[in-house]
Amino acid sequence: MKERMMTGDRVTGKLHLGHYVGSLKNRVALQHQYDTFVMLADVQALTTHFKEPKQLSQYLRLVTLDYLSAGIDPNETTIFVQSMIPEIAELTIYYSMFVTVNSLRHNPTVKAEALEKGYEDLYYGFLGYPISQTADITFCKATVVPVGKDQLPHMEQTRKIIRRFNQLYKPVFAEPRALVGEFPRLPGINGDSKMSKSKGNSIHLDSTYEEVLNKIKKAKTDPARVKKSDPGHSERCVIFTYHQAFANESTEEIYEGCKTASLGCAECKDKVSKSINQLLEPMRERRDMFQKNPSQLDEILMEGTARAQHIAKETLHEVKEAMNMNYF
Ligand code: ATP
Ligand code: MG
Repeated sequence: MKERMMTGDRVTGKLHLGHYVGSLKNRVALQHQYDTFVMLADVQALTTHFKEPKQLSQYLRLVTLDYLSAGIDPNETTIFVQSMIPEIAELTIYYSMFVTVNSLRHNPTVKAEALEKGYEDLYYGFLGYPISQTADITFCKATVVPVGKDQLPHMEQTRKIIRRFNQLYKPVFAEPRALVGEFPRLPGINGDSKMSKSKGNSIHLDSTYEEVLNKIKKAKTDPARVKKSDPGHSERCVIFTYHQAFANESTEEIYEGCKTASLGCAECKDKVSKSINQLLEPMRERRDMFQKNPSQLDEILMEGTARAQHIAKETLHEVKEAMNMNYF
């Protein structure tokens, strides 16, 4: 039997290049090797977007379209909707009995996100989202989880919860491992350390050829390089990181050209736009195909969700058995 791989994305916006190199690329490459589950995390999206559920329902289909365009094959991968698996909420409750508030408060990603969003008094659901992620991973007993770097503290939390559950009740779950992508944190076009849906610093996977050119033109470069004749510092420039992430050839020449000022920023940006457009072109073709047939998209979601529901029921039965809670 194939090992199970599981990940997902909050449906808080369309997917961008950071998602692709951080996680999506791995999912596409490995979907034949593993029994792959990909979750549209609408409940987790509510932890920060509870005031606008209508917006989330629009993103649900757009993110699905991003998956299919990027090469997720619905015949290999189970794509499902988180809120339609009530067992995930049930597991979250059980796990939350033995996770301390302090361990959640000290989670570095929760801390950083709370700071970023200006939260002082944390909402219960937001503070507890790492517990809910453990439920996402365990309801289908996944052991491989492709994620970006920000998710590593949550993976550690997940392993802790599993160890505790197994020790308290019965050994139901195997500990999962994180699979960090080639670019665990792709920076944003504004120079911010993370390209992020909610920061407006992204190049979306559904960008047109011109949109890529324009965004890259506006992207921040090494501030020390004012004139073309000033030597640049590739290590401080997001454009160079994008070369490393998306160029098909070695980036040595770019590095040298920047350092010796023989390559200007405009030309360097043109080259990177070309590489990004090369990656996005086949995605555009697949997107067009799926966009022409919206009912096919709904069918994919319904089929995937039904499969996930079936597995969730089996796991919950086993969990309750381990906890002596199958009363009748
Ligand atoms: P939000 O700002 O709403 O939290 P996000 O851009 O952080 O959105 P998520 O849906 O939270 O996206 O993350 C989905 C997955 O993509 C996670 O595994 C995350 O680590 C990964 N990811 C997101 N942004 C990047 C990035 N810039 N570089 C690498 N991986 C990323
Ligand atoms: Mg996030």
